[in-house]
Amino acid sequence: MERIILHCDCNNFYASVECLLHPELRGKPLAVAGDPEQRHGIVLAKSYEAKKWGVQTGNPLWLAKQICPDIVFVQPHFDLYFHFSQLIRNIYSEYTERVEPYGMDECWLDVTGSASLFGDGKMIADTLRERIKKELGITISAGVSFNKVFAKLGSDYKKPDATTVIPLNRFRDIVWPIPVSDLLFVGRATAKVLERKGVRTIGDLANARRDAVKSWLGKCGEELWLCANGYDSSQVAPADWQPVIKSIGNSTTMPRDLSEYNEVKITLMVLSESVAARLRQHDLQCDTVQISIRGTDLSWMERQGKLEIPACDSTSIYRKALRLFADNSRPGNPVRSLGVRARNLMPRRYEQISILPSIQQAQRHEAIEEVLDGLRGRFGDKIIQRGIMLSDKTLSALDPQTNYPNLVLSSVHSQR
Ligand SMILES: [Mg+2]
Repeated sequence: MERIILHCDCNNFYASVECLLHPELRGKPLAVAGDPEQRHGIVLAKSYEAKKWGVQTGNPLWLAKQICPDIVFVQPHFDLYFHFSQLIRNIYSEYTERVEPYGMDECWLDVTGSASLFGDGKMIADTLRERIKKELGITISAGVSFNKVFAKLGSDYKKPDATTVIPLNRFRDIVWPIPVSDLLFVGRATAKVLERKGVRTIGDLANARRDAVKSWLGKCGEELWLCANGYDSSQVAPADWQPVIKSIGNSTTMPRDLSEYNEVKITLMVLSESVAARLRQHDLQCDTVQISIRGTDLSWMERQGKLEIPACDSTSIYRKALRLFADNSRPGNPVRSLGVRARNLMPRRYEQISILPSIQQAQRHEAIEEVLDGLRGRFGDKIIQRGIMLSDKTLSALDPQTNYPNLVLSSVHSQR
C-alpha cells in the first residue's frame, strides 16, 4: 500500500518566534544573533526580509550590517524555541502517533492510517498549515509524498506557507530536475564526488548505473541511488520509539603521549563534541558517560558516571568526562589513548521544559550546538569556533583548530 508521508518545516523558525514576541519587528529585516556587542557574533537565523537583502546564516554581524544597514539584531531565546517546538509537535500528534522530529523545527508524519479520518495527505498538510498559522502565528512548509526523502524535498520545494505534493506517478517530473545536493544525506563531500562524475541532478543520479554509484560512494551511494529512484522505504518512527543503538562512542590514539592536563582537556572536548553531534544526528540523548584511558605503560581503565539529567550537548558530556578523568587518572602516567562513550541512550524529549536551571542550561547548550551542527554541515567545521557563543570561560579557551595533527577519530560503535 502506498504510504502517505508528510514533512513539515517551520519557516524561519527562530526569527518567526522572535516576531511573535516583538510584533513591531514584523516585516523588518531581522537577524537572531549572538551578543551584538561581541565583535565575533554571527547571524544564527534571519527573517525573509533580511534574506532578500542577501544576509546569510553564518555572516558575521558587521557584514550583515554592511549588506543590510537597517537590519535589527535580536538575541536568541532558546527556551522559547523549545516551547513552541513542543506546541507544534502537539498539534501534529493529533493527526498521527507517528511523528518523528528532525531537528527542532522539522518533523516527519506518517498519516497513512489517518487519511480516512482527516482526508488525503494534501488536505492534512493544508489543515496543519492553517492551524499552526492561526493558533501559533508560525507558517510552515509541507511536503507530501510516498516516502520520507521526497516528503522532505517537497517541504523545501516551495516556501513559505505552502504545500507541495510529490505523487508516485509524477515524482520523476518534479524531483529529477532538482540539484542532487538538495537530496537528504548528500553532504558537500558527496556532492563533489558526484559532480566529478557528471551527476548534477537527482535525475542524473537515478539514471546512473547502480553499481557505478556504489563503486564511487560505497554502500551510502547505493542508498542514495535507491532514494533518487523513489525506493526509500525508511519508516517514520512512532512517538514511543526506542533506539536500537545502545551506545555511541569515539576514541583516539594520540600521535604523541599526553602529559599535560590541558592536552587531555582538549582531546576530551574534541571527542565529546563528536559524540554529542552523533547523538543529535540520531535524535538521542544519554544519561551515562563512560571514558576509557590507556596509559603509556599500557594500563587500561574504563569508568562511567551518570549525568545529572539526560543530555546530548557536548558541554554536559565533556564536563562529566573530565570529572571522570580527574578522579581516576594516575598522576605521572602519560596518556596514550582516550575514549568517550555515551551510554543509556533514549530518544530526545522536548517536553521537559523546566524551571530547573540545570535542565534549562543543558537545553540552551543543545540548542546552540544544534545551530552549530547546521552551520558546520553547510559551511564546514571551521565556520565557527566554540568560544563565540558559550559563556563558559574554560571551554571558550579551547579552539577546534588546536586539534592534534593527525588526530584520528574512530567511527561510531553501535552495539545492536
Ligand atoms: Mg525550518
